[in-house]
Amino acid sequence: MSECRINNRIRSRAQELVHKAVREISEKRKDKINLVWIEATGCSGNIISFLNADAPSFNYFITQVVNFRYTNSLMLAQGAEAFEEFTEVIKEDFIMIVDGAVTTKDNGAYTYSAYYDGSLISAADKVALAGANARYILAVGACAVSGGVSAAAPNPSGCMSVQQFLKNRRVINLPGCPCHPDWVMGTIANLILYGEPELDDFNRPKMFYGNLIHDYCERRSFFENRIFAESVGQEGCMFKLGCRGPVTRTDCPTRRWNDRVNWPVGDNTPCIGCAQVGFPDLMEPFVRME
Ligand code: SF4
Repeated sequence: MSECRINNRIRSRAQELVHKAVREISEKRKDKINLVWIEATGCSGNIISFLNADAPSFNYFITQVVNFRYTNSLMLAQGAEAFEEFTEVIKEDFIMIVDGAVTTKDNGAYTYSAYYDGSLISAADKVALAGANARYILAVGACAVSGGVSAAAPNPSGCMSVQQFLKNRRVINLPGCPCHPDWVMGTIANLILYGEPELDDFNRPKMFYGNLIHDYCERRSFFENRIFAESVGQEGCMFKLGCRGPVTRTDCPTRRWNDRVNWPVGDNTPCIGCAQVGFPDLMEPFVRME
């Protein structure tokens, strides 16, 4: 198969899954599933990235594929009303997304997420409550997957990944800082259609995290011909500037970001390995200038 066709197949995988899920739901062979999105300790980047979905769009996804019942970042309900919706939906069938690390020090006091009946509810409390009942659990973004920036040394608030926190549950990991909206939508559509997608040894769906960035990078021929950029902005492979493409598994070069306009290497920035295990501590320095 030609490289162009392979690229097209990688790029369109999420769209195909979502459209098939919509068809199956509209013909009543599958059901929409409730979605609970808990923003724990992070920067809101993953939900902003999700809002930025273009094809399919955020609105299309939350009206055609899921019942987006709870999100502490976006929902209009506030206070007790919002928390009561949370306690109701987690008695039903649902997928839980956690975005952000789980802070555990001082009983989770560094991220409170609700106030109900005179008690403060931490994000850790919510993840534990919903995590006990969720049909599937998705960790979305670097912080939820491996602690990320929230757990960077010296990790003063005791942040940990969702899998470390929910030791007895299987967590599907969707790393990235932020996570691409296609990776979230495609994985949920796959769960509705077929159940769990094929995962790698870090529980990442192989359909999105199966290839090294380096293998699909448009600057690969520079690498093979040993033409290296000496500073950011120069033409050439950015390996000597510390590009983490050779160790990072995502489909960024083919999928691209922000309505498929561009991606870091395409904009003269080395890959910083934001979807790689151990980001950011193990990926530093992000750019090597000697
Ligand atoms: S720019 Fe980075 S990802 Fe692209 S070929 Fe060079 S080292 Fe690999």
